[in-house]
Amino acid sequence: MHEYVCTLPGGYFDPEGKLHREVALRALGGYEEELITSGLQTPPRQITRLLQRCIQRIGDITTITEEIARDLLVVDREFILLMLRKITFGNVVVAKLACPWPDCLKPIDIDFKIDDVPVSALEDIQPDYACMLYDERLGASREFVFRLPKGRDQEHISHHLDEDESSLLTQLLSHCLLRIERDTQIDAHKVRDLSAAIRANLEIEIEARCPSIDLTMELTCPECSRSFVAPFELQDFFFGEVKTNIELLYREIHYLAFHYHWSEAELMNMPRTRRQRYIDILSSEIEKINDKAH
Ligand SMILES: [Zn+2]
Repeated sequence: MHEYVCTLPGGYFDPEGKLHREVALRALGGYEEELITSGLQTPPRQITRLLQRCIQRIGDITTITEEIARDLLVVDREFILLMLRKITFGNVVVAKLACPWPDCLKPIDIDFKIDDVPVSALEDIQPDYACMLYDERLGASREFVFRLPKGRDQEHISHHLDEDESSLLTQLLSHCLLRIERDTQIDAHKVRDLSAAIRANLEIEIEARCPSIDLTMELTCPECSRSFVAPFELQDFFFGEVKTNIELLYREIHYLAFHYHWSEAELMNMPRTRRQRYIDILSSEIEKINDKAH
């Protein structure tokens, strides 16, 4: 099967501590399209399963488990989603938005290329990082050791999304904080006990080392000429795009099975570009037959 090789902005540390940055991917097939439209699991969990199926290799690791997909950094998971979008649906994104100004609300067409989305590699990638933060309550600095957010943290936090921002930060920090001074048994209680300033600074420290892929776009409405910022959520966009195509998937499978007599399993494993190539060939053949008949 055709593989697409790219370099992760972060990287994966295997259990021996070796860093792997190169990944080989394959495009989504029918099973993966079905998987992420099923809605049976939270999006982070679905992304884990999708990545487990579509990553063919990370460095020299060729057996990709869900645990490995879960262990990938959030930024790497976003990057892989972006690449999967490119190899499955193409490099050009065309979308429709509505102008957010209430007295306008006119539809706006936007298009951009996946290759133009700025993704910068993480500098100085490490399994964990240490920082000294001043604790105003102790009147002294304390050492904090943390790791960057991973897929497993997103999976945990997706069950708490109805909670307020402060408790979401508690969840995130209780996963990412590995050590406070000598204490390595970090739980939500200890994180909650930290001062607001320390909690805020830890969030800044983590974000500074692990930027997420920013798809936010500054746009100008062609109707009213006012500008606005469109928050383009990668995950929502990716899922939305697959969902709008799911009815088409079954019709394509039916069409190909009807004419070629291939099994459903074979067709479901086929990437969408290949499916569509066969459909194009079939359509032109059928057209030729129809032309002769007239
Ligand atoms: Zn407008």
